[in-house]
Amino acid sequence: MNQPTHIAGATCRDAPVLKERGQREVFCGLTGIIWLHRKMQDAFFLVVGSRTCAHLLQSAAGVMIFAEPRFGTAVLEEGDLAGMADAHEELDREVDRLLSRRPDIKQLFLVGSCPSEVIKLDLHRAAERLTVKHAPHVRVLNYSGSGIETTFTQGEDACLASMVPVLPKTDARELLLVGALPDVVEDQAVDLLTKMGIGPIRVLPAHRSAEMPAVGPNTVYACLQPFLGDTAAALDRRGACMIQAPFPFGEEGTTLWLRAIADEFGVDDETFARVTDAPRARARTAIANAAKALQGKSIFFMPDSQLEIPLARFLTRECGMEAVEIGQPYIHKGLVGPDMDLIPAGPTISEGQDVDKQLDRVRAARPDLTVCGLGLANPLEAEGLTTKWAIELVFTPVHFYEQAGDLAGLFSRPVRRRELLKLEAAE
Ligand code: SF4
Repeated sequence: MNQPTHIAGATCRDAPVLKERGQREVFCGLTGIIWLHRKMQDAFFLVVGSRTCAHLLQSAAGVMIFAEPRFGTAVLEEGDLAGMADAHEELDREVDRLLSRRPDIKQLFLVGSCPSEVIKLDLHRAAERLTVKHAPHVRVLNYSGSGIETTFTQGEDACLASMVPVLPKTDARELLLVGALPDVVEDQAVDLLTKMGIGPIRVLPAHRSAEMPAVGPNTVYACLQPFLGDTAAALDRRGACMIQAPFPFGEEGTTLWLRAIADEFGVDDETFARVTDAPRARARTAIANAAKALQGKSIFFMPDSQLEIPLARFLTRECGMEAVEIGQPYIHKGLVGPDMDLIPAGPTISEGQDVDKQLDRVRAARPDLTVCGLGLANPLEAEGLTTKWAIELVFTPVHFYEQAGDLAGLFSRPVRRRELLKLEAAE
């Protein structure tokens, strides 16, 4: 009963993939800093970029002006960009100034951007040099948040992947949960697994650098987000082993994700049922209430957050929606394969984007709901289509049982709003 439902016939895993490589409409990986800095409480994210990068961060995370921020931008001036100044020397000075003023910083991430990549500023070398200089108080790492050929959730993946090689080594058998979720949601997951007798449980990223998990050949890990492909590869290189499962969205996804971990740790059916029955029932009721407006409605996913395939599985199987197209920026079957196994073949599965061609397909299909980036939502709304901003899905707690109703609600609200507007117009 807790095992994946067998789907007779072909599934989306076997379906042909429409690969598109054209103009894309996505945010860059700097966006991840907005949720990562909240999670890692002694880290600082120093974007090495332009004024555009600084503006993006400031406007997206404007609330932070009331607190001591844990991110900032070292702005590359025209002289740096023209190769007239030694950007490395300036960066070192900037880091020295920051660290002498902020002894609370224990991890410093130098975050690459389009401008730093264009001038080929070697931030890896800079991070190594600065780690030597500021050890043992501060570890300096680097990753790229550049917008060239990336999508906005890849910033988190690149950040976590940069941490894996420097995690301590262990031979202990431990469960590692990978991905930055809001604390309250992370606590729910740890609580459910602990009640099944599973442990020790570690989380990457930890709140503080001193609590960072160790990793080794007996580590088994489960990803909390479907966009952590580079992090998973880095953990595999350290000898850790991934537990594959659908992602924990909705009642079914959460149950299957927990079940896969429970199986790995030899939890019996009775214990599993004792821990999960009550929250499963709550999740089912909450979804049934929130999903009434979604029954029989069509949905079109444009590629943006990397959450598209697991969400399509949730919306088609638990909320009664019909997917027309499921677009994802890139498809990593090692991560989203178990979700694809649960979606019957039928919807177009697309990877990458050629935005004009895809918009033509949206206009032809006129779906009841289109999930897309901010830049595409307004024009589509103006054409009478109902949209949902993909970026909200990473800023809202949506994982696990207690959030399953809210997840369905995120999609049903715009559908209900459109129906009300239609009714008002008809009166
Ligand atoms: S990293 Fe690139 S895409 Fe992102 S804000 Fe900076 S210039 Fe723009």
